[in-house]
Amino acid sequence: MKLAQRLSLAIALTTSSTLPVLASETVGTIYTKEAVGTIYTNARFYTLDAEQPWAEAMAVSDGRIVAIGKSDDVLALQGSATQIRDLGGAMVLPGLIDAHVHPLKGGIKTLFECNFPFSATPQDVADTVADCVAKTPGGVWIRGGQWDSGFFDRFSIPSPKKLLDEVSGDAAVILSDDSGHNSWLNSKALELVGITATTPDPEDGTILRLAGSREPNGLLLEGASQMAEAKLPDWTLEQSLDGARKSVSIANRFGITAMKSAMAPESVLQAFQTLDKQGELNAHMALSILTPYGSRKSALDYDEYPRLRDQYRSGNVDTRFIKIFMDGVPTPSRTAAMLEPYTAESPGADRTRGPLHLSPNQLTEDLIEFDKRGFTVKIHTAGDRSVRVALDAIAAARAKNGDSGLRHELAHAGFIDPSDIPRFASLNAVADLSPYIWNPSPIIDSVISAVGPRGEHYFPIRSLLKAGAPVLAGSDWPAAVETIDPWLGLEAMVTRRNPEGSAAGSLWPEEAISLEQAIAIYTVENARALRLSDRAGSLQVGKSADFVVIRQNLFDIAPEKISDVEVLQTVFQGKTVYPGEASGR
Ligand SMILES: [Zn+2]
Repeated sequence: MKLAQRLSLAIALTTSSTLPVLASETVGTIYTKEAVGTIYTNARFYTLDAEQPWAEAMAVSDGRIVAIGKSDDVLALQGSATQIRDLGGAMVLPGLIDAHVHPLKGGIKTLFECNFPFSATPQDVADTVADCVAKTPGGVWIRGGQWDSGFFDRFSIPSPKKLLDEVSGDAAVILSDDSGHNSWLNSKALELVGITATTPDPEDGTILRLAGSREPNGLLLEGASQMAEAKLPDWTLEQSLDGARKSVSIANRFGITAMKSAMAPESVLQAFQTLDKQGELNAHMALSILTPYGSRKSALDYDEYPRLRDQYRSGNVDTRFIKIFMDGVPTPSRTAAMLEPYTAESPGADRTRGPLHLSPNQLTEDLIEFDKRGFTVKIHTAGDRSVRVALDAIAAARAKNGDSGLRHELAHAGFIDPSDIPRFASLNAVADLSPYIWNPSPIIDSVISAVGPRGEHYFPIRSLLKAGAPVLAGSDWPAAVETIDPWLGLEAMVTRRNPEGSAAGSLWPEEAISLEQAIAIYTVENARALRLSDRAGSLQVGKSADFVVIRQNLFDIAPEKISDVEVLQTVFQGKTVYPGEASGR
């Protein structure tokens, strides 16, 4: 497309919105030069626009891209007040999008919790907790984590609660695992949440007990962990705002300008909307309103969700999303619902294939009702059985409601029976994948120990793409990974090796995809998942000026260097949000 045509497109887009008119009435001729705020030059813009994959310069006004193309053409728009930014030959990509993340949790964890790395030993955990207790004199609750999924397999600890009791004084300690589905408590914490020898296991979880007794040993799995979490005091609004702000600034540092929170109780809705209304939200946010976790026998109050959606939606906060859990995790807690049995009996009764949280009929009813009300539903499906049940439910919703065009999502669909792969395309169902973990690591070892050799066949992304399936990717931070850094995910998609070099080998290398495909997923595809395609995901006239400037051209470096890329600048709606203070309008 010629620049004149692009300009006319810009005019068409800007006059139909609330933006000031950027050009004279005569389509495609004169630009009011004073209106062009900033021109970025001397960079390689990878646009994700099929008509113009690469560009040399880009003009931005009032937070929008108003021109992009050859340097001479864009520089011709320079007016007396236009700022010129020379990017020194760097590469520019659309702002990256994380379509499955728990930002508020991550921000709060960073600011207020007692943290140790996944690699921590029992001694490291004890030392860290002792330290946190010493730093919060009089503190009632110490929350933190995360112990990795294989921790209690690797270390034999007869009484986990006692290990914590010895260093925690009067404080109540609760530490979550890397999946966020299980927790480790000391005696004081068990007492405060009311879990004792006489407490029965919930239907969807397990209270682990000391050998030969009913006495809880301090480890709570799935529903039992949720029982404890529900008793914890809420974070204050002030803490939530700090956590939300922190999470966005961490994301911006890595070039992320949009996120989909995979699990939004009302506190999350409130925090991000408040930030947005205060003009402090430096990212587009999509929030998946949380339905109750765990087994549920009755229908939901479906009309409550449109109320929440409408109450909390604002300029940069989109609340037209729902989250439903169908199962847990395929780690030694053996709670993902699988088609074939796990390697050994799980601690609970009749859990050899992992339980479904909801009956297939219940999920079907939920899907039909939410689809009817215009919500995109994200269904947590970590096992191949829950994947199948979720696809069946989407099929039923399509049959009942017709094609709503809503692309419902299957989260962490790492295990998919080959016969179900073609159904993603035919149902327009999105595989929500977690590339950070599909490489050799302690988490994968623990998955393989629970599911057996089929654990090697985890995350068939290439097969999905070949079958035309829509896919999205996310970090899942702070669950499963220690950082939101999207460059780790991009690298793992291409190499299927551990990006940090901390484990040898590769995981199912036949399923590696190309760099072009991986970047498209983190930009245009994830934008679709956030229902942001008209505003973000590519560098095109009329879209929000969201982009990341990186020193190296990703196409010129070895794939195993992708995660070492240096982010120089992140711009959201035309404003530099990383590094430092806002500038560059
Ligand atoms: Zn998640």
